[in-house]
Amino acid sequence: MRQVETIILGGGLTGLSAALHLEGDWLLVERESRLGGLTRTDERDGFLFDHTGHWLHLRFEHTRALVEELLGDNLLEVERRSAIYSFGRTSPYPFQANLFGLPPEVVRECLMGLIEAKMAEAVDEARGGLRPSPANFQEYVERHFGDGIAKHFMLPYNTKLWGCKPTEITADWCSRFVPRPSLARVVEGALSPPQSELGYNTRFVYPATGGIETLVRRMAERLPEERILTGVALRELDWRHRRVTLSDGTVLGYRRIISSIPLSLLLASMRDLPAEIDIWTDRLRCTSLKYLNLGLDLPRDETRAPRLPFDGVHWLYFPEERFPFYRIGCASNAVASLAPPGAASCYVELSNAHDVSEVDVLESVSRFLIDETRTLESRKQIVVAEFRRLSHGYVIFDEHYDPARAAVLPFLLHNGVCSTGRFGAWVYSSMEDALDDGIRAARKDGKGE
Ligand SMILES: Cc1cc2nc3c(=O)[nH]c(=O)nc-3n(C[C@H](O)[C@H](O)[C@H](O)COP(=O)(O)OP(=O)(O)OC[C@H]3O[C@@H](n4cnc5c(N)ncnc54)[C@H](O)[C@@H]3O)c2cc1C
Repeated sequence: MRQVETIILGGGLTGLSAALHLEGDWLLVERESRLGGLTRTDERDGFLFDHTGHWLHLRFEHTRALVEELLGDNLLEVERRSAIYSFGRTSPYPFQANLFGLPPEVVRECLMGLIEAKMAEAVDEARGGLRPSPANFQEYVERHFGDGIAKHFMLPYNTKLWGCKPTEITADWCSRFVPRPSLARVVEGALSPPQSELGYNTRFVYPATGGIETLVRRMAERLPEERILTGVALRELDWRHRRVTLSDGTVLGYRRIISSIPLSLLLASMRDLPAEIDIWTDRLRCTSLKYLNLGLDLPRDETRAPRLPFDGVHWLYFPEERFPFYRIGCASNAVASLAPPGAASCYVELSNAHDVSEVDVLESVSRFLIDETRTLESRKQIVVAEFRRLSHGYVIFDEHYDPARAAVLPFLLHNGVCSTGRFGAWVYSSMEDALDDGIRAARKDGKGE
């Protein structure tokens, strides 16, 4: 039996980053035939499609330096342009700071709701802050944004995104990803068009050519090919004897594992787990994602220039129930190399869409593009339409989330398995986090931080 110092499970950004930063003997095992995980890019008739929009938001110096070094000249920096589509019009993201132009009754409901929420907060503060923390996402939204913003955006949009009731989600994930503007900012945004974008991701970087997979290729180029196994999956992890069995029958001994495969799959591959760990295997919930890659042949304006979809906006959020999808992105609006000249590369995202028929989705998208927004003149201009599925989209922050991670991750680490990355650590995290997770995992010695 071959003995390996470190086995890396999963060849997405986390696994690749770990491989780049590890010293000593390692072997990377990836189930798919191509490295990259979520950061692969598919080519179809000259259109490039990421596994839906993948924009690099960089907030740490060391990861920015790594990305800049890897991509070199092949790097673009883009100012985010995102918007919400509701009441038949687009308003810039985030909804709560850009109420201008919405129907007056909606603006009134949103402002009054926020004022009432702020008043309740002030009263509570004056009484010493005795209110219990919000028990779930719905309570968080109603408390911090008020009933109007909750009703017209936060609750319907998030119900579609998470594919479950907002009361099933805890409030914990909100602070980083949901911007909370001041009352003054909301009032300003209701009275006049927006001046600047708010939120955690106002600028992003991206490869100038080749889609997000360019980053993966640049990482892979620096790694010795013979240490990478593709098209082979973890089948069984014998954690007591520190042995793995792979799908081709190979058995390997190891000192430590860095795993970025979904935590639920990792646990399912481990026999004889203690009962207090095993109970979490089936309780880790995540959304599955269905998405539609669209290649559009664009209409021309009077000067024969192609008319960009959605006035050049990069992606649109759809809170309304009448649309089965929660987001449509036009990737080539941000990075032109993602589509042939005169065309656009778009994606349409649906969560947990088990009961929605693909025909209905395509019909709804076509109506939106042709009849509602006049982005296209006819259906013939949809030259690529392909549905794809991701089994793991977003982890769900439900009641089991914290206890599961608190029990399972230290147990694994204690047994030489550092489970990290988006689905390894079972977190809502970005590509930058994945790069950082890989670096941190490489620096651990397998016995903990
Ligand atoms: C729809 C969507 C949009 C996103 N958009 C953005 C964005 O705009 N910006 C951003 O920064 N981040 C975005 N992210 C997050 C980003 O994709 C992830 O944080 C990051 O790519 C995670 O990398 P990873 O290596 O941890 O996981 P993954 O990319 O999932 O890699 C895990 C790897 O493990 C492999 N694997 C699974 N099972 C086995 C097995 N049994 N044996 C061996 N290998 C196995 C998989 O094939 C995969 O290659 C998005 C995520 C999603 C789902």
